[in-house]
Amino acid sequence: MRDSAGSRRVTAAPRCFSAAPAPAVLRRCAGALAALLVVGCSAVPPTPLERGDALPPPPTYAAVTAPARGESHRELDALRRFPDHPGALLRSAWLLQETGQNAASLRPLNLIVHGLADEQLAARGRDVQPLARWLRARAQARLGHPDQAADDLALARQAAVDPGLIAALAAGTGTADAPLAEADWRGVPVRPIPREAWRAAPARGSGMEPMGAIERITIHHSGTVFRAGSRAASIAAIRAIQRDHQDERHWADIAYHYLIDPDGRVWTGRDLRWQGAHAGDPERNRHNVGICLLGNFVPNGQGRPPAVQLAALRGLVVSLAARHDIAPDQILTHRELKTTECPGPFIQSEIAALRRSLAGAPQLAGPP
Ligand SMILES: [Zn+2]
Repeated sequence: MRDSAGSRRVTAAPRCFSAAPAPAVLRRCAGALAALLVVGCSAVPPTPLERGDALPPPPTYAAVTAPARGESHRELDALRRFPDHPGALLRSAWLLQETGQNAASLRPLNLIVHGLADEQLAARGRDVQPLARWLRARAQARLGHPDQAADDLALARQAAVDPGLIAALAAGTGTADAPLAEADWRGVPVRPIPREAWRAAPARGSGMEPMGAIERITIHHSGTVFRAGSRAASIAAIRAIQRDHQDERHWADIAYHYLIDPDGRVWTGRDLRWQGAHAGDPERNRHNVGICLLGNFVPNGQGRPPAVQLAALRGLVVSLAARHDIAPDQILTHRELKTTECPGPFIQSEIAALRRSLAGAPQLAGPP
């Protein structure tokens, strides 16, 4: 992964330098060659974007990291005409980083991570947030902030769908962080945060059944409006859910095996060794993994889940389905198992689309 990332950086050099002749020749007839080089550079025709008659690139890994055409600063000038287009912002950040302007590249990236509305991001593709976080991690690592880089990389890895981005994320930032230690099945990068991180209370009593074989997944929402986007706020919310389940409902532990927060962090709930308490009754909970999205996504709730939260859900479900050989028709929402609104129409249609894509793409459920 590192090698391919390295060669990509080499090809990103301006054309006139990659076409430069050997140094010995250069020394002998420097004047003539300099003239030739000038002609070579100015002969590169302006790109459609530079001419002003093209749209900015789509926010995909390949388009964002394509070699600079012509001079980077001309393309950067052209991209400024699209101040809130995710593709233009991501491409600008990439070009700035390729020319050593790592601190300046943070501005367009922060705009995406904190500024753009979720609807805007969803309309532009699923990888906008993960691409922004990956590029931010790159800049932060180069600027000497390995902790911030690691946090962004972890979030990007949980949500990325674009195969090019997944490969780049597996290689890390190339500076401060280590590559992924355990690439899971088919490289779907999901790394749930352990229970200890949210200071889970221990399970109580002996009221838990062993899970046995995993055959099914059921998706829920927490049913409580939750938009806060900090790690600490998510920890508080998950601890409150566990308190409710243990103290009020007298269950042995938090009902769900995984919880996904609005930033796409995947948290470990009940240990997968134990049957959950989320689907309605012991029969429906048997061999059934419970996943809960933090938030209230029924029609009168908080609206659509953030794109990055849905992307993390897809990553987690695909990873679990592949690892445990779960059939697409056994990936269910709560309301498909009992009479309830949970988890609401947005997640319902997301899961229906995911089932269709898994059923039509057998390579997602097996090794490449
Ligand atoms: Zn539910």
